[in-house]
Parts: sequence; C-alpha cells; structure tokens
Amino acid sequence: MDTPHTPPTERHNHPETSPIGEHPAGIVTSLDTLETKSHLARNEMDDPHALDSDTEFRHSGWRSARTKIRTRLERDVASPSRLTRFDECGSRAWVFQSAEKSDRFKVRASYCHDRFCKPCARAKAMTIATNLGDYLRGKTVRLITLTLKSSHDDLSDQITRIYRCFSRLRRSKFWKLHITGGAAFFEVTLSTDTKLWHPHLHIIVEGRYVPQHTLAHTWREITGDSHIVDVRAIDQQRGVAEYVCKYVGSPFPSDVYHDDDLLSEAMTAISGRRTCLTFAAWRGLKLTALPKTDEWQPVAPLNELRALAKSGDAWAIGILTACKPSLTITPDQSYAWAYEENEPYTEDP
Ligand SMILES: [Zn+2]
Repeated sequence: MDTPHTPPTERHNHPETSPIGEHPAGIVTSLDTLETKSHLARNEMDDPHALDSDTEFRHSGWRSARTKIRTRLERDVASPSRLTRFDECGSRAWVFQSAEKSDRFKVRASYCHDRFCKPCARAKAMTIATNLGDYLRGKTVRLITLTLKSSHDDLSDQITRIYRCFSRLRRSKFWKLHITGGAAFFEVTLSTDTKLWHPHLHIIVEGRYVPQHTLAHTWREITGDSHIVDVRAIDQQRGVAEYVCKYVGSPFPSDVYHDDDLLSEAMTAISGRRTCLTFAAWRGLKLTALPKTDEWQPVAPLNELRALAKSGDAWAIGILTACKPSLTITPDQSYAWAYEENEPYTEDP
C-alpha cells in the first residue's frame, strides 16, 4: 500500500493560519475565476452518501460492483491483508497544490493497487499509456489483435491457450521477419447471446508491414482452429493511450459484474496472470514505472477540506472546485472525483 507523503504538521492547520492561507495569490485568483461554480461544490458536499469517507469518495462510481468483487475476494482469493488494502483504498487522502501553478490541486491517498480495483486499474492503465507514449515517440507502430475461436472451455484454460499460442507465434519465422518488439495486453469479452468468453491479445508492435492474410494463416496453423486476426496502423500518442486504457483499465466487461458465476470464474481465471507483457526489443521497458511529475505541496486532509466546504468555507470550496479539472486519474495515482458525471469508470446506475 502506498502511504501518501506525510505532510509537515504546520501545513495541517486551519486555512486562516496555514502558509497557503497567508499567501492567497493563487487561491484568491482561483476563487475569483471559479466563484460561479462554487454552488456545485456546495451541492456535492450536501450528499452524505457520496461523502461518508475518503474511501467512499474514491469508490462511489462503482459501489455495487466493488461490493461484489469484495465478496468474491473474501470467499475465493484474498488474504486478510489484501482485503484490508482493498477496503482502505483511497483512505488518508490529502489535497496537494502544484508548486509551479498555484491554481492546480490534486488528491493523493493510500491505494490498494489490486488488479480487481477499478480506480487502481485505471491509474495503472494511465501509467502504462504514458510510459508507452514516451517510448513510442518517433516510432512506427501497429496494433495486432489475436483471437481464439469461441469455445465452451473454462476461461482459465482459454487464457493459458492464447498465451501459449502467442509464445509459439513469437518464435515463428514469419513473426521474427516482420516484428522487432512490442507490448501485449490481454482482454476478455463476453458474448451477450451465447455467454461464451472471447479472450483477445492486443499487441502493439514495431517493425515492418505485417500482411494480415499471412498472419491469419500462421495463427491458424499454430492454434489449429482460429484465424481471426486484425492488423491496423495506430496513431502513436492518442491511439496508444486509448487502447491501453481500454484494455488494462477494466479487468472485465461490465456484464460480468451482473452474473455471480461469471464474475467468480473471471476472477479465478485472471488471478495471478500477467495481463500485459513486453517482448523482443521492448523487453525491459518498465511499463508501470511512475513517471516524474511536478512538485506538489500538501494543503490539508481531504476530509477536513470537505467538512469546511460543507460548512460554507469559501477557501475550501474554492480549492475543492479548483481540484476538479485536474482530478482525473493520473499516472502518479491522483484520483478522480468518482461521482463526477461522465466519470470514466462509473457503471452503477
Ligand atoms: Zn484500489
């Protein structure tokens, strides 16, 4: 579990006596420009269910799915310490202010990094997308998708099979001739009609042009029954971020959360598996290394700012309102306002 920076105690003061309170240049500017939005913050502060705790705050966007995941974690998968981390994800949250741009704020907290925790999976996806985006600058890359023919086999067996076949593909003459390196991401979808799993590998590759028909033929030879493959050019920056966030950011399709048996099967099948890997010339690329970010100064605990804002404190309302644009999930694990409309991982009605 991450422990957020322990801010100096002198900063943990009432805003009127805090250093930031005495240097209102950035804050006052923020308050002035954001004054018309302050009623939004005030309304959100009045929702007792959304603001019970820091943890609730982080996870309100997927509350019911999180409860189901936790039930299965407790029954099938997790150690007591893992459960505790899962339960406390988002706790001990502090608001930080950018040292360079005084009107920028964000939240840091303790995070569980559990693969089944949606906000943490989302943050990991952002980290990977950022690192890949940097690495790919100036490179020509393509996206290959490999699929397996629909099967009634257990999901775990299908995952084992697609990884094994991909390993054989990487050792093939065709692959070595066309591809010098890449990164692969696992995704599973579910047919709403047949309820059959569809495991995929999405692979960002560097190298020469990849003829689709030859790849399909090679994949068919290796799998014995599957020939559906896709090859396409992708925009290095935007494309990579979109794809990676889609595949890594959500471990399961949303339908799975509505079926207890499928959810259990998916969690058991994915537990302990790698869902992304690098190969050949890209091996060693640290996909999940946290990028260096701006300097951030601690302001106050999030729950104190929320309590102040709830009581109508303009300073706290201004900071919380100013936080919002920057409170997307970022590579350094800041997190989003989970109850925000159009929030990316919101699924509950
Ligand atoms: Zn988490």
